[in-house]
Amino acid sequence: MTIINNESDIIRKDQQYVWHPYSSLTDPIPAYEVTSAEGVYLNLQDGRQLIDGMASWWCAIHGYNHPVLNQAAKDQIDRMSHVMFGGITHSPAVTLCEKLVALTPTGLSKVFLSDSGSVSVEVAIKMAFQYWISKKQPQKNKLLSLRGGYHGDTFAAMSVCDPQNGMHHIFNQVLPEHYFAPKPQTAFDQPFVKEDIAEFKAIIEAKHQQIAAVILEPIVQGAGGMHFYSPDYLRQVRALCSEHNILLIADEIATGFGRTGKLFACEWAEISPDIMCLGKSLTGGYMTLAATLCSDEVSDGICEGEAGCFMHGPTFMGNPLACSVANASIDLLLSQDWQANIKRIEATFSAELELFDSLESVATTRCMGAIAVIEMKQPVNLAEIQKKFVEQGLWVRPFGKLVYLMPPFIMTDKQIKKLMKGVYEVLSGLQGI
Ligand SMILES: *Cc1c(COP(=O)(O)O)cnc(C)c1O
Repeated sequence: MTIINNESDIIRKDQQYVWHPYSSLTDPIPAYEVTSAEGVYLNLQDGRQLIDGMASWWCAIHGYNHPVLNQAAKDQIDRMSHVMFGGITHSPAVTLCEKLVALTPTGLSKVFLSDSGSVSVEVAIKMAFQYWISKKQPQKNKLLSLRGGYHGDTFAAMSVCDPQNGMHHIFNQVLPEHYFAPKPQTAFDQPFVKEDIAEFKAIIEAKHQQIAAVILEPIVQGAGGMHFYSPDYLRQVRALCSEHNILLIADEIATGFGRTGKLFACEWAEISPDIMCLGKSLTGGYMTLAATLCSDEVSDGICEGEAGCFMHGPTFMGNPLACSVANASIDLLLSQDWQANIKRIEATFSAELELFDSLESVATTRCMGAIAVIEMKQPVNLAEIQKKFVEQGLWVRPFGKLVYLMPPFIMTDKQIKKLMKGVYEVLSGLQGI
């Protein structure tokens, strides 16, 4: 018999010493102790195995403990795990930057490597501001973003997150103020209505002399609401930015590397941004690494200015270990028919979601690529629902009204069905609450 020991030493000490994302230390919710992970499974300390519907916040696209990624890390660690990037270069970083330029939309030709998604957004924003300072237009010091967006937790990133659920009310004394257009209303597969972009257009027309850049998540707004919008909207944003001398920053940290069914979500609209942020699945979920790409126009503009260089340089920039795993992860993705695989996941999700529409507690469902969303009528109680998911043998972590799934791409149809059956069991148990 397995003894279920929920009060293991680790969990007790965890509550005593350790911050978790968006967590309280005075009223902590116990975390689950994972001791290993393999394929699509997380193994808990008490012997239970959970099927992972989150890919560790959308990162672990190839699943856990992948032999190819493990080997890449082992090979690199025996050479060097880190060297400074100031004045030094190495093959893992150069290879990665060359790959990223080749794979991303045309026009993106220079790469700045950094440590995390939020930092890559800070870098993108700094690039945009420094570009306009160099161009002797320092009054272009505002950003325009979309309501319902999420760009990270650091200060510049936070200032362009949705003002309601993005903590602005708490930090409004310290956050810079930027412009917000309404969240795009036209769904991904609906015919575009002109009015949808009217307010965005009005802001651009009125304020373009102050606006340095538009920043948005192309096609899929992730952590701000799991919302899928029309490629026509994005095309028009691109056109308006070009027309009014405004840079376009595409935050592809969540959408990059195949999640939506295209390698990058900008491809749905066939547009190129001036600056692009990548992170999350860049290393297949192995290590933290992010990249900010920009056009020659942006890099030349910055470097020809008074400062003569771009004013940024993190200590762990271009970490060879992370770059090596990123190279292996990208090669692994591209070595397969990944488009067909994402279509398979989408078809299975789509069929499985039908059942949820009949549940009293469910408002609506949607899916795109390897993303499935069940929007509830009421916000869920995270601590309670998480426990129920774990009892079903699942790892699913909803936020607000959104129960969503973003599994590793290696999840089989059988495993997806098991995952969805478990989610259905939990949600149907919420009926009437
Ligand atoms: C997760 C995310 C970020 C922040 O990345 P971190 O690695 O958590 O700093 C920024 N933008 C988008 C779209 C994201 O999904």
